[in-house]
Amino acid sequence: MKLDAKIPPGPLAQKWDQHRFDLKLINPANKRKHDIIVVGTGLAGASAAATLAELGYNVSAFCYQDSPRRAHSIAAQGGINAAKNYQNDGDSVYRLFYDTVKGGDFRAREANVYRLAQISVNIIDQCVAQGVPFAREYGGLLANRSFGGAQVSRTFYARGQTGQQLLLGAYQALCRQIAAGTVKMFPRTEMLDLVVVHGHAKGIIVRDLVSGAVSAHAADAVVMATGGYSNVFYLSTNAKGCNVTATWRAYKKGAAFANPCYTQIHPTCIPVSGEHQSKLTLMSESLRNDGRVWAPRKKGDTRAPADIPEGERDYYLERKYPSFGNLAPRDISSRAAKEVCDDGRGVGPGGRGVYLDFADAIQRLGEACVSERYGNLFDMYEKITGENAYRVPMRIYPAAHYTMGGLWVDYDLMSTIPGLFVLGEANFSDHGANRLGASALMQGLADGYFVVPYTVGDYLATSKQPKPAASQPEFQQAISGVADLTRRLLAVNGKHTVNSFHKQLGALLWEKCGMARDEKGLQAALREIPALREQFWKEVKVTGQNQELNQALEHAGRVADFLEFAELLCLDALHRRESCGGHFRVEFQTPDGEALRDDQNFAYVAAWEFAGPGQPPVLNKEPLVYDQVHMSTRSYK
Ligand SMILES: Cc1cc2nc3c(=O)[nH]c(=O)nc-3n(C[C@H](O)[C@H](O)[C@H](O)COP(=O)(O)OP(=O)(O)OC[C@H]3O[C@@H](n4cnc5c(N)ncnc54)[C@H](O)[C@@H]3O)c2cc1C
Repeated sequence: MKLDAKIPPGPLAQKWDQHRFDLKLINPANKRKHDIIVVGTGLAGASAAATLAELGYNVSAFCYQDSPRRAHSIAAQGGINAAKNYQNDGDSVYRLFYDTVKGGDFRAREANVYRLAQISVNIIDQCVAQGVPFAREYGGLLANRSFGGAQVSRTFYARGQTGQQLLLGAYQALCRQIAAGTVKMFPRTEMLDLVVVHGHAKGIIVRDLVSGAVSAHAADAVVMATGGYSNVFYLSTNAKGCNVTATWRAYKKGAAFANPCYTQIHPTCIPVSGEHQSKLTLMSESLRNDGRVWAPRKKGDTRAPADIPEGERDYYLERKYPSFGNLAPRDISSRAAKEVCDDGRGVGPGGRGVYLDFADAIQRLGEACVSERYGNLFDMYEKITGENAYRVPMRIYPAAHYTMGGLWVDYDLMSTIPGLFVLGEANFSDHGANRLGASALMQGLADGYFVVPYTVGDYLATSKQPKPAASQPEFQQAISGVADLTRRLLAVNGKHTVNSFHKQLGALLWEKCGMARDEKGLQAALREIPALREQFWKEVKVTGQNQELNQALEHAGRVADFLEFAELLCLDALHRRESCGGHFRVEFQTPDGEALRDDQNFAYVAAWEFAGPGQPPVLNKEPLVYDQVHMSTRSYK
């Protein structure tokens, strides 16, 4: 496989402008002749579908929820970054670019990140014009707050519901096109295969989740914006439906999967409370603007937090990282919390928790101000834990949250299959080995509103592929493959639920390939995952039938894919014999416990290629070249 990132020549700041000029255009009348499939209508997919339709293309959009409004993007709480420098605190496009490259531990592509920082300013304008109710200062200008890994305030927010408000904006734009007949929306429809004709992505196979009917859809290009795979860990902050199926099945059709081991563990989630829990809840990073993280200095200290005097508290982030303090990036803050708990100083049941304390902020700003900033998060916390965080500190612990890995894409966001574009969390493009807070919404909307609408046009104008038809043999073969998989899942008729396998896989991955990884654990995981997969195919019980609404069957297909994908994740983690960002290999750390990168040997994107069933995947490498920034040791001290 040849990886060509197609990074445009010329100075970094001019690459995107020059590239847009160089891209071929399609005249407005001809755009109507092209059909485009968009899979996923979260922030990345909805913004892409709406924009492509507004440009004049015929768009078919698919999601598995009953409405695009229920995409996982709606859960985003804290905010969206943009280099507007409204605070006049030293921000700039270059600083956002630099913070993002450094935050990603120098494992992202410079040109993509610079473009992201450039576009960030347009996103805010677009969303304001749509009526997204961002928080405002007393004078009416948009307000900002800070997120991890930055020393400026550049995060735009709508209380603790930023994702929901942004999604409503994108959804409105999408609905306008649905009403105009330029987007045909297929809710409750799951993509189960990608169809490749003469080496180009030309369609998808879907299952109607209500009737079970399987059908083929053909188009001139396919855009996938199907989100991340954190649910491979079973317990995560993601919506329960998030899965790897679309990207995994595209991988098996020839799309390289990049850096699957770059997973993000978020430091501020409500700790696990019991065996029967199916999901974890995030407490937004924005809380670390005003909350102070601490743990008792003494091991096994079971006193109530209020009874622990100031001198016996360890504000460990402020102590270890004085210049960033509580706003140290996620990977670093998560590891620091784990360290404290491993040291026997954790709080709450099971000792897997640390405090996030608002007492100082309430004293400084008043309860009303804290409530205005974070009220809904405090309410959510109280509903889940029964504790009032205005009176006692929140208890938090790291949890699986976001995946930086994803399908490999070039600068045009095209995968290794021509005609297949991948956006948002589903691609690997901009965050390197660790994503900074408030940058996922920025990337999803940059990809959907501002990048792919140009680059798809260039593909259509230059590729000159014949129009595909769903009656072609490639489509019929793919339909048979999907029907066969469904038949096989229903036929096992074993004794164990799908959920029990998912749970076992999650526990195994969390232990051996979670916040810390080592060679021995990864080798063990690589033995245990295939065994669990074999057991799944012998002993799983999928209740119900195909020709009906059957969530057990949907889950079974997704878990079957997780059971294959998990192996690639561990293989990637095993081969990367360095620590960087969210990938922390215990063997590779500095004397004070920080990640120890190996730029000599690992400054590359690992793009894995499917080599056929039962065959080991092939590793392809895209070298990462830094012309602008120096690959320094990442320090937040
Ligand atoms: C609790 C929480 C809070 C967060 N807060 C922030 C924040 O404050 N700021 C920030 O920048 N980021 C935040 N993030 C991250 C951010 O929300 C996500 O990365 C982002 O919303 C992903 O958007 P997306 O469009 O790529 O995917 P999603 O929103 O996950 O959408 C995926 C879409 O794909 C569809 N889909 C998937 N598979 C299939 C299939 N096989 N067939 C058909 N359709 C399919 C789904 O139906 C859905 O429409 C947060 C994440 C979580 C979990």
